[in-house]
Amino acid sequence: MPNLQRIPMSSYQQPDASGHFGPYGGSFVSETLTHAIQELREAYARYQNDPEFLAEFHYELKHFVGRPSPIYHAARTSREMGGAQIYLKREDLNHTGAHKINNVIGQAMLAKRMGKPRVIAETGAGQHGVATATICARYGLECVVYMGAEDVKRQSPNVYRMKLLGATVVPVESGSKTLKDALNDAMRDWVANVDNTFYIIGTVAGPHPYPMMVRDFQSVIGKECIEQMPAMLTEQKVLGGQPDAVIACVGGGSNAMGIFHPYIPFEKTRLIGVEAAGEGLESGKHSASLQKGSAGVLHGNRTFILQDDNGQITETHSISAGLDYPGVGPEHAWLQEIGRAEYVGITDKEALDAFHYLCRTEGIIPALESSHAVAYAMKLAKTMRPDQSILVNLSGRGDKDIGTVADLSGADFYCRPSCQGQSVKGGEQPIKVVK
Ligand SMILES: *Cc1c(COP(=O)(O)O)cnc(C)c1O
Repeated sequence: MPNLQRIPMSSYQQPDASGHFGPYGGSFVSETLTHAIQELREAYARYQNDPEFLAEFHYELKHFVGRPSPIYHAARTSREMGGAQIYLKREDLNHTGAHKINNVIGQAMLAKRMGKPRVIAETGAGQHGVATATICARYGLECVVYMGAEDVKRQSPNVYRMKLLGATVVPVESGSKTLKDALNDAMRDWVANVDNTFYIIGTVAGPHPYPMMVRDFQSVIGKECIEQMPAMLTEQKVLGGQPDAVIACVGGGSNAMGIFHPYIPFEKTRLIGVEAAGEGLESGKHSASLQKGSAGVLHGNRTFILQDDNGQITETHSISAGLDYPGVGPEHAWLQEIGRAEYVGITDKEALDAFHYLCRTEGIIPALESSHAVAYAMKLAKTMRPDQSILVNLSGRGDKDIGTVADLSGADFYCRPSCQGQSVKGGEQPIKVVK
């Protein structure tokens, strides 16, 4: 591996000084937060190319996260599809099981340097909450995680994980009691406690500089791939240095921006984002903000959002909690508009089929989010030649999802002793209990 520390964070395309990607992005915050946002912008500007900051970031990525994550040739899957070679970037092998840790390390390092002893975060499925609680334990920071009361019930293993790691989990009872309500309460907390508190946002959303900053921290994924792919392709005797297509699932869009961004200058490589089509793009039950949404302001930035005629955010749906968000990072809206990236949908059923397929064929249990990217790669591979290649960002492992999958498949599933014989729907992950 080359010395990634020497590649500045900002070596690729940037938003303008006010954080705009074309007409998207920017900063829509209340006056009470203007100062905090300005302070964060200045801190990131100061540290983003600072050699000592970068050295610590890459030390943490190597020794705490276990980077670089490998690229794996899914040879059996590729052979069975009969088309392009499919490669998986194994973000599922990171400490805490997904890409989210890359970003929280960067932001927690900024919190330390800015002298903020208290960290807050919002979480939906709990993955970002767990990553944040993890790094706060590592750095001795106080950690408060806002989580919709519904999600607290549905995701109790992750709630307990956060508690084990020393975090305080605050159930949010307002609105639909899910992620967007947790975001609102985290914002309110930040307004009240700006002096001592750093808000760690979990995806490429929020007001400037978050979309740029989170993307920069996650770009380690794509930077590694650009080094790893030529070697992989030579080993497999496939022509060409870089993949013909890079595919990633898109919730808020951070794992996708992380792998896409360094590939933007590689014009021969197609960039394909996979949104959750839920029960179908025409069903109204999906989370496909880029394909079915329209421009509007949500959580501090202008982007594509799912809204009704009155600008009210509409209910979203996906089998995977991590993709179940009514907005998307503003840079994706821009990449779609300029045609540099394409966005497609994969339904709950297709994702679930890909989940089972990867388990049985490659010995890898993928996150349901990542299964969306795998499902599209399998479809696309069939339309390509065996000397072509597809790189999939396998954003996380699926251990967190096995209860959901067991329930959907009507399978028996282990549960803790105290719920013997009980249906634990709504109390634990929705799982069935071994009788
Ligand atoms: C949170 C999560 C996602 C979705 O978030 P992005 O910001 O779109 O990357 C995808 N995959 C996994 C495994 C996640 O935990």
